Amino acid sequence: MRLIIATSNKDKLKEIKSILRSVKFPIICLADLDKKFHIKENGKTFLENAVKKTEPVSRAFPDDLVVGEDSGLSVDYLKGKPGVYSKRYSGRRWTYEKNNLKILKDLEGVIWKKRKAHFSATLAVMKAGKLIKKIEGRLSGYISYESRGTGGFGYDPILYIPKYKKTVAQLPASIKNRISHRAHAFRRLKTYLNKR
Ligand code: IMP
Repeated sequence: MRLIIATSNKDKLKEIKSILRSVKFPIICLADLDKKFHIKENGKTFLENAVKKTEPVSRAFPDDLVVGEDSGLSVDYLKGKPGVYSKRYSGRRWTYEKNNLKILKDLEGVIWKKRKAHFSATLAVMKAGKLIKKIEGRLSGYISYESRGTGGFGYDPILYIPKYKKTVAQLPASIKNRISHRAHAFRRLKTYLNKR
């Protein structure tokens, strides 16, 4: 049995492969498969989207274990937004930078203690098209007053982590891959897989 990671996001894949280094299953990703999947991410929750990404792959490869991930940023002051809309928050012509600027603008004038936010990652683990496990991981912090740092991707430059006095983008990859929402979720997956 192989573990197929149902993501085509190269930034995420790099992190996931690093987190799952010691798993005993062969790990492959969508780019390694001959088949192409067109996925509409129009779910209302992270879990719905994670299942949408995973299910078609799991049906096509019923002998393998397939894990899909949906993640995003939830800002308390914005009542959980952008949430499932994290990827395209600044519109159809989104870029990571435009998304960050939009969040900073949304929070203009908002005091520090009201700037709480978290990243979350929801995993759907499926076998032969059936959901066999769901897992969530979180990383909590505050939306910084300005963008800082060049590491990571997405909203990393604007999520400030008090323990390190740095934004996620200012942390070395080795630390992000130990403390991130994705790290928590995929470490739980690792424990689950090693028990199977
Ligand atoms: P999706 O899960 O591919 O729909 O994309 C989720 C979006 O959430 C990404 O495009 C990023 O904007 C954001 N996101 C997810 N994980 C991270 C992360 O580790 N750091 C920063 N932004 C993230």
